[in-house]
Amino acid sequence: MGLKEELYEILEEAKKEVKKIKDKKLFDELRVKFLGKKGELRNILGKLGALGVEEKKEIGQAANEVKDKIQELIDEAAEKIEKQERAARLKKGVPDISVSRTIPPIGYYHPLTVIRDKMIGVFKNMGFSVEEGPELEEEYYNFDALNMPWYHPARDSHDSFYITKGKLMRTHTSPMQARIMQKRKPPLAVVVPGRCFRRDAVDATHSHTFHQMEGLVVDKNITFADLKGTLLTWAKMMFGPQTSIRMRPDYFPFTEPSAELAVTCPICAGKKCSVCKHTGWIEIAGCGLVDPEVFKNIGYDPEQVSGFAFGMGLERIAMVVYGIRDIRYFYENDMRLIEQFVK
Ligand SMILES: [Zn+2]
Repeated sequence: MGLKEELYEILEEAKKEVKKIKDKKLFDELRVKFLGKKGELRNILGKLGALGVEEKKEIGQAANEVKDKIQELIDEAAEKIEKQERAARLKKGVPDISVSRTIPPIGYYHPLTVIRDKMIGVFKNMGFSVEEGPELEEEYYNFDALNMPWYHPARDSHDSFYITKGKLMRTHTSPMQARIMQKRKPPLAVVVPGRCFRRDAVDATHSHTFHQMEGLVVDKNITFADLKGTLLTWAKMMFGPQTSIRMRPDYFPFTEPSAELAVTCPICAGKKCSVCKHTGWIEIAGCGLVDPEVFKNIGYDPEQVSGFAFGMGLERIAMVVYGIRDIRYFYENDMRLIEQFVK
């Protein structure tokens, strides 16, 4: 008998065996028997080596056809039995949990969401609560309450989107400091994540829309040491236990004294690289003790309470942590970026 005849013999045999099967578990055995590595078809293919080129081609093709046919036979029969079993289950009143076979596509968290949630987790562990505030803000909370009256030069650095007279898209999350203090009594420890807006020209490090996280702690006898301890703990939990912090004098109208916070570059662990511009440090936040004037504006007595505040840019932190070099990537919804952030 020629190889071709042997092939068709195998096909006929498979047809007979498929018909006999009533239990779907046995189909796997059948697949192994005919199509597996030590199966009957392989056996024939093993003999091809001895043939001439033309014949090899012909038998090879026939073998492929037979293989496909057997595959099809088994699949069809398996599906038929599956259907019968399902119908039987339904008759008995058993709910059919296999009907929907489509698995919904799994979404990804945006890198800014990942960073925001991680930060919230860290601050919650330290006893902070989380609040959110309005993006369309009153000029009073955005500026005046924070010690920035209309003539204050710091307003110039906040190029704002005014919507109507006295209302603007908030330029930072700091207005929530005033709102929270106005509605609650100390002691309080709150973080406020949120979106902010400035009329900045868009480039690799600037965007008209960006995200901040504000922090505020007010109680009796809060000192600069509390601020430093809180931020050091945050930095270690965020970037790893080897992280240290550096604070340098800075200026903000609503804190006094004010500082700029830098953390050990998480990319090179302080050994100096291009991300930290070869300094070993990444400037990451502004902070300070709440200015007594702000307490007075809000109705707290600065003789009775003290506090600290900080503001962090989420884009900046995400760019450092993930090595994202252009802030515009965050807003383009390019799946090639987003897909890297499965959580
Ligand atoms: Zn570095």
